[in-house]
Amino acid sequence: MPNSLDTRLIHAGQPPLDEQTAPVNVPVVRTSTVRFSDTDALYTLQRRRAEGDPVSLYGRHGTQTHRALEQAICELEGGRHAYLVPSGLAAISLALLALADPGDHILVIDSVYQPVRKFDDGIARRFGIEVSYFNPSAQAMEDHLRPNTKVVYAECPGSILFEMIDLRAMAEVTRARGIALVVDNTWASGYLFNPLATGADVSLLAGTKYISGHSDVMIGALVAKDAGIAQRISRTQDLLGLVVSSDDAYLALRGLRTLGVRLAQHERNALEVAAFLASHDKVERVYYPPLPEDPGHALWRRDFRGGNGLLSVSFRDFSTRQIDAAADALKLFGIGASWGGYESLVLPVGGDRLDVHGGWKGKGGVLRLHIGLEDPKDLIDDLRLAIDRAAASTA
Ligand SMILES: *Cc1c(COP(=O)(O)O)cnc(C)c1O
Repeated sequence: MPNSLDTRLIHAGQPPLDEQTAPVNVPVVRTSTVRFSDTDALYTLQRRRAEGDPVSLYGRHGTQTHRALEQAICELEGGRHAYLVPSGLAAISLALLALADPGDHILVIDSVYQPVRKFDDGIARRFGIEVSYFNPSAQAMEDHLRPNTKVVYAECPGSILFEMIDLRAMAEVTRARGIALVVDNTWASGYLFNPLATGADVSLLAGTKYISGHSDVMIGALVAKDAGIAQRISRTQDLLGLVVSSDDAYLALRGLRTLGVRLAQHERNALEVAAFLASHDKVERVYYPPLPEDPGHALWRRDFRGGNGLLSVSFRDFSTRQIDAAADALKLFGIGASWGGYESLVLPVGGDRLDVHGGWKGKGGVLRLHIGLEDPKDLIDDLRLAIDRAAASTA
């Protein structure tokens, strides 16, 4: 019987007991280069690297600290090859640059993390790569495929509104046509969902969020199963010179050890807050797939093994100003981008930014909340007062 994921994540990448003792944690190995015992060793290791073995010949290839984190991320995602990059966005850019050539078409889900659109508009088109978007449905994806579609890029659930999508149905289509399916798995952080097991070719993560978990690191990762795809990613990463510091790799691994318990608590807290919001008379809708009334709930239950602390809320008859007033009145939520740390955050997202989401039917915009590890009763009190204040403020 293989050990369960929780057990494997505790032990993955631990230093081996070569001598009579070993530390619990992998050392932070800081180096810019590697020394070889003799030229024989140099040539042997150069040959092994050329054959795809991730041995380090130079600082850019990483150290044992990086290897330990890569191993833990492979456990997390059920992959064979993991690559570390300096941010989640670098993971996205690397995947797209590695897998698409000039003349190819990339089909992107319309609920995507917004900077992906900027990458597409700012870089992909300059390199002669076509980009277009589809509504989050497997049928819409199939309808938008072109003869030159090389990559389908999805995020599940979607950014801001957390639209669920049937990735299994999508993967059946992309598989049959030899198209690479790339999934941004940051919401699930590998722990709650495994795109590779569902038929995706690449799963990528902003480790900046739940994996690190303490709002003190920026890091990204890509995971693949297929050796050909892994090699394209590895070569492109090398040529772009994308490298992560050992200190950041160490911090991400340190965070990853407690990913499971943190996510479970974020989910419990978010469910309490979501239930409060859903029953509030000023609230129009709560966007959170773990809520039974969420339209994506059935798919989420089928594919995911839990929820996280991220939700959005829209209000009945609140102007954009009132939505901002609610954010300003919150005392326990920092106003800012990102999420996945231990603390609560709020971000107002205007309706103009949501219009590109095929599923958006609202008007004024939403507040996106990250529910942290504070006592949810305090967060609910904070939200109740802030919504009252905003309701009383003039539009
Ligand atoms: C934050 C985020 C990213 C980008 O990660 P960075 O480390 O901030 O570059 C990518 N995808 C999703 C879904 C994110 O939430």
